[in-house]
Amino acid sequence: MSKSRYAMAGTPCQITAAALMENYTEEFPVEIKIGLFCMENFSYTYLSQLAMEEGVDLADVSECRIEKGKLWFRLNDGSTVAVPLERARSAMRKSCAVCMDFASEQSDISVGSVGSPEGWSTIIIRTDKGLELVEKARKAGYIETEPIKDSGLRLLEKLAAGKKEENLEEIKMRESVARPVMYWRVMPDDEYTEEVKDYQFDDLRSDVIDVGACVLCGACLASCPEDMIGIEDRKPEVRGECPPGCNICYLACPRTYVPDSIVSRESASEPLGEYMEVLSARAPMFRGQDGGVATALLAFAVKEGMVDGAIVVDKEAERPWKPVPKLAEDPEDIVGAAGTKYSACPIFRVLKEEGD
Ligand SMILES: Cc1cc2nc3c(=O)[nH]c(=O)nc-3n(C[C@H](O)[C@H](O)[C@H](O)COP(=O)(O)OP(=O)(O)OC[C@H]3O[C@@H](n4cnc5c(N)ncnc54)[C@H](O)[C@@H]3O)c2cc1C
Ligand code: SF4
Ligand code: SF4
Ligand code: SF4
Repeated sequence: MSKSRYAMAGTPCQITAAALMENYTEEFPVEIKIGLFCMENFSYTYLSQLAMEEGVDLADVSECRIEKGKLWFRLNDGSTVAVPLERARSAMRKSCAVCMDFASEQSDISVGSVGSPEGWSTIIIRTDKGLELVEKARKAGYIETEPIKDSGLRLLEKLAAGKKEENLEEIKMRESVARPVMYWRVMPDDEYTEEVKDYQFDDLRSDVIDVGACVLCGACLASCPEDMIGIEDRKPEVRGECPPGCNICYLACPRTYVPDSIVSRESASEPLGEYMEVLSARAPMFRGQDGGVATALLAFAVKEGMVDGAIVVDKEAERPWKPVPKLAEDPEDIVGAAGTKYSACPIFRVLKEEGD
């Protein structure tokens, strides 16, 4: 991986993958992690089909949003089409049903909409690094903040706890009829690293990819020292023979096993994870999905030289609303990638593309 330092915005599973790569690889280049709130995500193929069934061509959609129990498509002509979430969940990725993180608990700052008024974001500051970025961006006028209302915080905690309770039930149910949900097992870190010391991509395939547990984050691809992993449309594939002694893709994957030292199993009963402060915030100069705060913080960090660039998720040129990862060194490109694309994205792929 490169010597440049980056900031990123990503879903909780992507942020967990970043924490694993930080732990297991040398010189992982992500310095600032901005985590998004996330209840669920969708398969791009099924989401496009769902839209079609509702008479919506994604090419005509200017904005996607999940709000008030519905998935909303705003069309270029100003009209909206709402799909009840119950129905939209048919397009949900299977791995999201066992996800135990709503609020990106391993990030420096988490950002989401729940808990704050329209046009504002809720931010959770978790680390000194996150606090420094928020304070500097606030001083420079990139963001403004207000205390979150008690009712907003209560709603946030309720939704985050609800996701954990429901998904813990799903984990127990799957484990009672099938195999353990690997990433949520509990075992000592050293026992785990000893157990998997000879594991390679074939094990990742059988333990994660073939059982539908992959979140398509691209961490395996980014961490492979031999550049042997590719992701075409839907899943990671290996090209060639793995050299003996390498198991890094297995360790970097957020769905093989996440040591308790990185994600404590006690967090199952703490809806938001550990944090310093929760605020409402918005970015007066930027238009984003909610308060534009994720974009403002990334753009500020790059402009101020705190990092060399930001890893963001933009839209592919050919397929409408198909997320594509981008390494943005120009704040304009970060601004261009604002807005939520509700499908999985192999975000860490850019760490390999950058060296091409
Ligand atoms: C799949 C998904 C589900 C979400 N579910 C919830 C939810 O249930 N409740 C809630 O309050 N908030 C949810 N969010 C977060 C919310 O949609 C906004 O991203 C968040 O409020 C930040 O708003 P903003 O205006 O500050 O972001 P913006 O300034 O618009 O920036 C958004 C950032 O998100 C990144 N991004 C866009 N799509 C993706 C993607 N597919 N994967 C990774 N990164 C991406 C972009 O790179 C951009 O930097 C979800 C986000 C995603 C991606
Ligand atoms: S696994 Fe699904 S629900 Fe969990 S963070 Fe990733 S995209 Fe969101
Ligand atoms: S070389 Fe290592 S990281 Fe790459 S696919 Fe093989 S086991 Fe995984
Ligand atoms: S198999 Fe690769 S892409 Fe899938 S979750 Fe694991 S690291 Fe991410």
